[in-house]
Amino acid sequence: MVKNTAEIVYAVGVTNSTEKLRLIEIPRREVGETDVRIKIQYTGICHSDLHFICQEWGPLEFPAVAGQEIVGIVTNVGSGVSKHKIGDAVGVGCSVDSCRICTNCSRYAEPYCKNRVVETYHSPTDDAVGHTLGGYSQAIVVDEEFVLSIPKNLDLAGNHVAVLGLGGLGHMGLLLSNNAISKKKKFPPILNSCQACSGSAQKSQSSRSSGRTEDAYKLGASNVIITSDTAAFQAATDTVDYILDTVSAKHDIDALITLLKTDGKLVEVLLVEIKETQEMLDFCGKHGITSAIELISVNKTEQTFERILKSDVKFRFVLDIAGTLNKDTVIEEI
Ligand SMILES: [Zn+2]
Repeated sequence: MVKNTAEIVYAVGVTNSTEKLRLIEIPRREVGETDVRIKIQYTGICHSDLHFICQEWGPLEFPAVAGQEIVGIVTNVGSGVSKHKIGDAVGVGCSVDSCRICTNCSRYAEPYCKNRVVETYHSPTDDAVGHTLGGYSQAIVVDEEFVLSIPKNLDLAGNHVAVLGLGGLGHMGLLLSNNAISKKKKFPPILNSCQACSGSAQKSQSSRSSGRTEDAYKLGASNVIITSDTAAFQAATDTVDYILDTVSAKHDIDALITLLKTDGKLVEVLLVEIKETQEMLDFCGKHGITSAIELISVNKTEQTFERILKSDVKFRFVLDIAGTLNKDTVIEEI
């Protein structure tokens, strides 16, 4: 049964396959018994969003709204909600529902649900338009089980920096590894198997290599391997215990594997379970680790996609939803 719509909110998306991103209006469902309504403050822009909007992952259902790294403030909760309350800072990741009963769901591995993974955007849902709509929007309604608590000491937007270099996930991997290694702390589960990942194997253009190297060292890398530096890459053959691979664009995994020792592990960062994500956030809150971001006005979304294509990416692009998405928003064309 289609759920009732409670409100219409502004979003940035597309309504057919030929148009550019633009301001659109989308429905959000009524807050059900176990639902949380979130007024979105910020949403990450990542390469996945670009793959999605450009239909590289298959044809789109319309309207299509990307955004799967959402942070905001709880403005309403259903009568049965116990984990979150009005005013809490919360986050939503790449999934918003699952079957909850299969063997994977039972062990908190919802992204691998065998029956019904509902991703934050473009998955079938009982909400009005029939598929989920992501975080490039003013508000979202999500079941409390898929809403993460954000520790009070973490700035929702992170720190503002403007440096070329590692990706959003990669720089967090470095920060977390470095923090845990230098202070001999227990790793958060997400990095349990990455204790040797203090170096960075990034596919890189040589012109940017030195800048990236510097950034990586600042973030705590003890060694940096640039794939375009053939000699350095060969010298590192068979020296690495774990590789944390956070690159979503096409890249040469065979070459990376040559770095691994015989028993080494290649960890592909794709989907992360809700429980692990919460533990990682708690770890970051406890140790004051925030991501380095460049804040983007919503009207620059198209340009930002273009910059991602050109690898002109700061650690993480974040869309300033609360500050710049409103009825007058015009998405600038490239
Ligand atoms: Zn399941």
